[in-house]
Amino acid sequence: LVSLLALLYTCGCAMKSLYVVEVGDPKIPRFPDSCIICGLSGPEKLVETTVTDEATRVDFFLYSLPISPAQGSKIDVPVHDSCAKTMRNRFLKEAAATVMVAGLIIGLSGIYGRYLGAAWAIGFGFVVAFWMFQSAKMVPFEFNRTLSGYIFTFADHHYAERVAALNGVQIKTGTDPYTGR
Ligand SMILES: [Zn+2]
Repeated sequence: LVSLLALLYTCGCAMKSLYVVEVGDPKIPRFPDSCIICGLSGPEKLVETTVTDEATRVDFFLYSLPISPAQGSKIDVPVHDSCAKTMRNRFLKEAAATVMVAGLIIGLSGIYGRYLGAAWAIGFGFVVAFWMFQSAKMVPFEFNRTLSGYIFTFADHHYAERVAALNGVQIKTGTDPYTGR
């Protein structure tokens, strides 16, 4: 099970390139008038959503829910309400499916009164795998506030280029969504 999880994690990372834009202080980072998720400006009106550097992806996953964690440095980014909701709902469906499968395995073993220990281990493994998968998954945008400025990582090359041009900096590539290295 552990090696399966490790494999899942490695596949999830798959060292796909990310596009990194660093904006140093005291500049205020600027974003184009288009959605950070789909890259388009229309037809829907753009809204600003606040994300934090502690868990940018979690802020997207829990978009407009009152349970959004709000720790760390914050920044407002432009999104379409529908794009952010689609991303959130996909995450919630996957989370619900994982919990259901884990619950089903544990429930069935409970009904038959057999292999309960193994069922709990497998159920727990499912939840851990889900968490690892979500952590390694490619998301449109993440950022890190450092001592000297902001490090933005984008999945989309075109969007990253526009942000770099707006802020007068060069685009870089990296593979780590958390540090941009
Ligand atoms: Zn959009």
